[in-house]
Amino acid sequence: MTPDAPVRHLVVILGDQLNRDASAWDGFDATRDLAWMCEAREEATHVPSSLPRTVLFLSAMRHFAVALHEEGVPLHYLRGHEGSLAQALGETLATRPVDRVVLTQPGEWRVQQALQEAAAAAGVPLEIREDRHFLCSRADFERHARGRRQLRMEYFYREMRQRQRVLMDGEDGDEPAGGQWNFDADNRASFGRDGPGLVPAPLRIEPDALTREVIEEVRTRDAGHPGVPGRLAHFGWPVTRAQALAAWQDFVEHRLPDFGRWQDAMWAGQPWLYHALISSSLNLKLLDPREVVEDVERAWRSGRVPLAAAEGFIRQVLGWREYVRGVYWLRMPGYLELNALDAHEPLPAFYWNGRTPMRCLADAIGQTLEHGYAHHIQRLMVTGLYALLLGVEPRQVHEWYLAVYVDAVEWVELPNTLGMSQHADAGPAPGSRAPREPFGPMASKPYVATGQYIARMSNHCRGCRFDPAQRTGERACPFTTLYWDFLARHETRLAANPRMALQVKNLRRIEAAELQAIRERAAALRSGRVPTGD
Ligand code: FAD
Ligand code: SF4
Repeated sequence: MTPDAPVRHLVVILGDQLNRDASAWDGFDATRDLAWMCEAREEATHVPSSLPRTVLFLSAMRHFAVALHEEGVPLHYLRGHEGSLAQALGETLATRPVDRVVLTQPGEWRVQQALQEAAAAAGVPLEIREDRHFLCSRADFERHARGRRQLRMEYFYREMRQRQRVLMDGEDGDEPAGGQWNFDADNRASFGRDGPGLVPAPLRIEPDALTREVIEEVRTRDAGHPGVPGRLAHFGWPVTRAQALAAWQDFVEHRLPDFGRWQDAMWAGQPWLYHALISSSLNLKLLDPREVVEDVERAWRSGRVPLAAAEGFIRQVLGWREYVRGVYWLRMPGYLELNALDAHEPLPAFYWNGRTPMRCLADAIGQTLEHGYAHHIQRLMVTGLYALLLGVEPRQVHEWYLAVYVDAVEWVELPNTLGMSQHADAGPAPGSRAPREPFGPMASKPYVATGQYIARMSNHCRGCRFDPAQRTGERACPFTTLYWDFLARHETRLAANPRMALQVKNLRRIEAAELQAIRERAAALRSGRVPTGD
């Protein structure tokens, strides 16, 4: 195809759509169609994308482009476009005759809107096709939600297990394997005093020449972005499907058997533990959730992993991952604006540099900036919990999570941050088609705890200048003080939630003078009179 030949279908491939079996490729004819990819600067700056995240996206896109080239697929690849995806698409459409733009459903509402507007402005029809990567389509999720007073992941997950015939037994295949749907109670162990011992190291993918080139480029261009430039040389995330499969198989063989048991545990200086580290590969579509779920079920059926580990893992991918996508599309765009707890504090500066005397936060933020990774409990019960208790504006928390993690894409990050971690999504969103939910679709109660939870699940508190058992006084753990202050600030709302009854009852046992001291220390933490950063 010559550079100015008319194009039948301009097939737009976004940075998180690196699967060759996506619907946008259906019927692709190399003699008449043209694939289109763009590295738009805005995607790295609308929130300041961290160094490892940008390297991952750019390197994976360039590897995909090379593979297309080797296959002989005609591709228009825009490297380092200074504007937005929509601007870049508009420019292409202004210079080339195109009959139709074809796109797999984008993951992000903002991108979908912008591309729709760009195509409309150019007067070119845009066809948006189903994203078959997901096991539950947006329409199926809407059907699931219709008529329900309250959305709950657990019921969605059971439906998915039945519909997809995953971990189902019994004569008619309608019984959950092992006689119960959920082995969550088996998945909360801590390492105790002795620690995790020798954890099998995950497979690290050595950067090839293409990735090294991207690293140099990003290190120079994005010097002010979050991350540790010196650590980029140790970048080890998969950037091709073959690499993602190798890393996945390594997990199934070596760490999956212990995944369930240690799912919630933390240990200083141990960023990976027994986690799969596949979220970035799944979100870029280098891996397919079906193959992941099938491999795990097979490993259990062949006796290589316990059922609690297999079920615990499958619940995350078949349950949570599909559920949060459904919630995102059901509730956008209003979801982004929610702030049910009326929180308006700024995000502490130490979230961007990790410099804080709070050992748990320093560890979680430190590894986040170095690797673009923290596991779920670190995100939910350390960085997320502190922001929630402090009363940080949810939008700022959202922007931090979207910026720093290699797996951060809005459809999965936003419900986890705004809903699950900040409890900002209680009540109906403006313009939402979702049912009226008194406690929000992501959590039936706020995930709140004192520093004692962190003390139980990790070794962080042993070396910390604060004491998780104290709520007032010089050594009081900020989590513990802020926990009681949080309950006091939201007492009326929380008292209406039966799942918070015990916590509210305990709050009401605190003497007025002590409560006053808690409130004063909480105010001092917020104002910086108790230093928590440098
Ligand atoms: P594992 O612990 O090994 O779990 C396996 C897989 O299950 C993950 O790869 C992921 O695909 C899926 N999964 C597990 N929990 C969830 C969940 N709650 N929602 C959706 N999928 C889940 N995940 C992202 O992929 N991108 C994000 O931007 C993101 N932001 C988050 C923000 C907050 C505040 C919280 C609390 C969670 C967030 N998560 C996000 C979910 C989860 O923390 C990550 O998917 C997980 O830590 C990735 O590491 P892993 O691959 O080692 O996961
Ligand atoms: Fe974190 Fe508090 Fe423990 Fe320190 S004492 S590590 S701040 S939970």
